[in-house]
Amino acid sequence: MLSLQHLSKYYQSGGNKTFVLNDVSLDVDEGEFVSIMGPSGSGKSTLLNIIGMLDEPSEGYQYFAGEAVHLLKDKQRSALSRTYMGYVFQAYHLIDELTVYENIETPLIYQNIKGSERKALVADILDRFNIVGKKDLFPSQLSGGQQQLVGIARALIAKPKLLLADEPTGNLNSKQGDEIMELFLKLNKEDGVTIIQVTHSEKNAEYGSRIINLLDGKIESSRVLNHQ
Ligand code: ADP
Ligand code: ADP
Repeated sequence: MLSLQHLSKYYQSGGNKTFVLNDVSLDVDEGEFVSIMGPSGSGKSTLLNIIGMLDEPSEGYQYFAGEAVHLLKDKQRSALSRTYMGYVFQAYHLIDELTVYENIETPLIYQNIKGSERKALVADILDRFNIVGKKDLFPSQLSGGQQQLVGIARALIAKPKLLLADEPTGNLNSKQGDEIMELFLKLNKEDGVTIIQVTHSEKNAEYGSRIINLLDGKIESSRVLNHQ
């Protein structure tokens, strides 16, 4: 599904280059559930943002769904990310002024999906996520766990093949976090959604099928997990 080859990201200050990512190569196949771990500042978010085309590498080659991303123009990259990717954030990033229903519907409006189809898609995911009763509430009226469910519903509403999540349980208590991880596992196993998450939690990382450890902008180790 995606391949990063000799990818680096650095910032210039004076004559010096400060490397955030340094010669990272990584392949992710469709259907994988990858957890990225590593200390603060090791480059995890930068790596996830580059994969999600929210950020650009300084050097290297990047392929996604058969496209050479490093050769694409901004507009083409946005189109690719809109078609294939959903994003989940630590702090949910819901729009406070919109209801649960409207938050989830937003990506479909950007994709010019017609009203009747939007209605059916949102109704379906509200039902699946068991939040029909919350649809007219605003984010501030929900618990953190519920807000993250809405964030995930919004990320999934346009049926992306790849879900990218940066510390999705970082603001949640452990019970809420477990529920979100169980949901990720289900999405991955039952719906075939490829998932890449950044996490500080070893326990949450182990929900994945592979754990990648970053250190100082390099992949320090990588470990495949065999779940029963
Ligand atoms: P992590 O997610 O592992 O905590 P990040 O990818 O957020 O790491 O950041 C890695 C490093 O990149 C940090 O040390 C950060 O200070 C640095 N960094 C990020 N953005 C910039 C920038 N615009 N200019 C200089 N350094 C930056
Ligand atoms: P969970 O652990 O299931 O995510 P909580 O225990 O935090 O949820 O919240 C329990 C209930 O309290 C939820 O049904 C939620 O709707 C309600 N609730 C939580 N925070 C707020 C709030 N700020 N305003 C109104 N209701 C809230």
